[in-house]
Amino acid sequence: MISKILSINQIETLKKWLQTEEIKNQTKRSLSVFVQIFSARGDPQWLTEIEAAIRVTAPLAVIVGSSTMGEIGEGRLLTNTSVISFVFFEKTPVQGFLVDTENQDEAVVGKSFSEEIESKCQKIAGVLLLATSSSMDASNFLKGFSAGRRGTYPVFGAGAGVYEGEQKPIISLNHQFSSSGVVAVVFMGDDIDIVVHTYLGWEPLSKELTLTETDGLWLKKIDDQPAFEVYHRYLNIQDDEDFFLNVLEFPLLVERNGIVYAKTPIEVKDHCAIKFIADIKQGESARIGYGNPAMIIKNARDIQDRVQAFNPEGIFIYSCTCRRFLLQNEVELETKAFQTIAPTAGFYTHGEIYSHEETVMLLNATMVAVSMKEGAGKLPEAVLEKGLAEPITAKPFNRRDNRMLSRLVNFFSGVTAAGARKASENGLEKPITEPTMVDPFNRQNNRIISQLVNFIKVVTAELELANQEARRLAERDYLTQVYNRLKGHEFLQSEMVRCNRYGLECAIIMLDVDFFKKVNDTYGHNVGDAVLIQLVKILTQEIREVDVLSRWGGEEFLVIMPLIDEEGAKNAAERLRAVVERTPFTQGLRQTASFGVATYKQGESPEAFIDRADKALYEAKKKGRNCVVTK
Ligand code: GH3
Ligand code: MG
Ligand code: MG
Repeated sequence: MISKILSINQIETLKKWLQTEEIKNQTKRSLSVFVQIFSARGDPQWLTEIEAAIRVTAPLAVIVGSSTMGEIGEGRLLTNTSVISFVFFEKTPVQGFLVDTENQDEAVVGKSFSEEIESKCQKIAGVLLLATSSSMDASNFLKGFSAGRRGTYPVFGAGAGVYEGEQKPIISLNHQFSSSGVVAVVFMGDDIDIVVHTYLGWEPLSKELTLTETDGLWLKKIDDQPAFEVYHRYLNIQDDEDFFLNVLEFPLLVERNGIVYAKTPIEVKDHCAIKFIADIKQGESARIGYGNPAMIIKNARDIQDRVQAFNPEGIFIYSCTCRRFLLQNEVELETKAFQTIAPTAGFYTHGEIYSHEETVMLLNATMVAVSMKEGAGKLPEAVLEKGLAEPITAKPFNRRDNRMLSRLVNFFSGVTAAGARKASENGLEKPITEPTMVDPFNRQNNRIISQLVNFIKVVTAELELANQEARRLAERDYLTQVYNRLKGHEFLQSEMVRCNRYGLECAIIMLDVDFFKKVNDTYGHNVGDAVLIQLVKILTQEIREVDVLSRWGGEEFLVIMPLIDEEGAKNAAERLRAVVERTPFTQGLRQTASFGVATYKQGESPEAFIDRADKALYEAKKKGRNCVVTK
């Protein structure tokens, strides 16, 4: 297997390259030629022109095409160009299939598609799928595809992207085109090894949310609120034509069987429902996620180590557009190192296709890296020494070894500008920026930062509210919402400190409802509760603003009165007694209360102070209730 990559903007470049002796000979020597065109220009004429040029040299080549949201050539990010990846297989037969899903149930089409593939192909070693995921329900298609599939070969690929919202995605196979369909390329035989890796690197940002209402790919409600409102609130994202671009790097993260999946929003309807690229489930928990660049790069390094161990002859990368958006020029940190292992081509996608056991699924926000090699005798020495049959699980290289380090130094020194520049080496043509081709991915950092700032603002406000609520719950009595005993005690202590320091006066009133047990016994507990709530209300109205009322026990309350002398406190207690006596409570009930008053003596402990009020209250009860006693 030999892999070659070139990027072109003019057909002449391709024609010249195809006419070289090397390529002509290579074609003759190969059993099959497999070509992928990853093109910013997604018009059929352009793809046809490319195909026609290729057919002159390789008439039997299997040629597939896909529109993109950015191209990857030799591990570098290219824009507004067409990357063409050639694979010359020595022994591996390759066959292509295309199916249109327009106006059909994708699951049904998917099922018969995989059945057709399996009936026509022998010894399947892997299947590449390219789907127009933004104009069809690709998740549903893959559900059907999984159902029809009996083998366990890897299935991998991507959703075609488009640079601008109004354009339609396109996929192609040998002169056939579809804007609503799927292309499959089947690799067959015993001589090819394919290993697929995927990784995410996204981390949860928001608190846990519940997807409370869904309808197919539409998410209608999050936490019983319109789904769009939640995105709008957290990220200040508007319901306009830029919705998709603005929301791209903030997918919903859901966890299924211990694996975190990202689900990218694509469209919003009437400020309410949000459509997703991949399936979402009602009742599922999710968090809004954000790509952590450090984690992305770390994951990329781990995968690159494993790919290196496999020693591939060609690598294909299908990486979500949002990675490009998020990492900007640094996106090459995760793609460029692949090129140091083997020729690497791919594109920025609209959903990534990946299989895990029997399930083929559409992922979002991930990178899918496909490594291929022909012939089993090409394992690196380190792997062979250890006798590992499954290179994927092998860890033959120390991550800190010199080669790795120098590779990393290389990344950090050479990737600050997009691969568009100095692209002329190694057959990559300098891209021509045509006036109609706008790269919407340029300079997105400011926007992302302002979205994150908004997010932090909203989350901080939410946290403050939650803290307030937690404080309220800790300080207040649940039934009457007046301060609880703990808080009342705290107020009393700080008031006593003030009095001690400044030589001020203060007083407390301990009051207890008379014969309250009878209320419960006669009318029930609910009426008793209502009386307590009403009592708090009238007491609160009667005391001064500086006074603090707290519930000391069942039907016992403490009033803390700063800056008041004995006479004043006694009068206040008398006023409270009178208002309780004259108030008709619920159901016309009449109720009285007894009052014990104590004025603060300098240096006294809170316990002694309260004890005096308690004793006064006890005396008031003994005196026949509904009266005030001062100690
Ligand atoms: P006294 O005049 O001697 O204070 O008589 P009393 O019946 O008020 O006193 P006792 O301490 O015997 O009874 C207090 C009652 O208050 C008993 C208890 O069930 C009731 N109680 C305490 N907390 C609550 C409450 O939150 N809701 C209701 N409904 N009743 C309560
Ligand atoms: Mg009582
Ligand atoms: Mg009592």
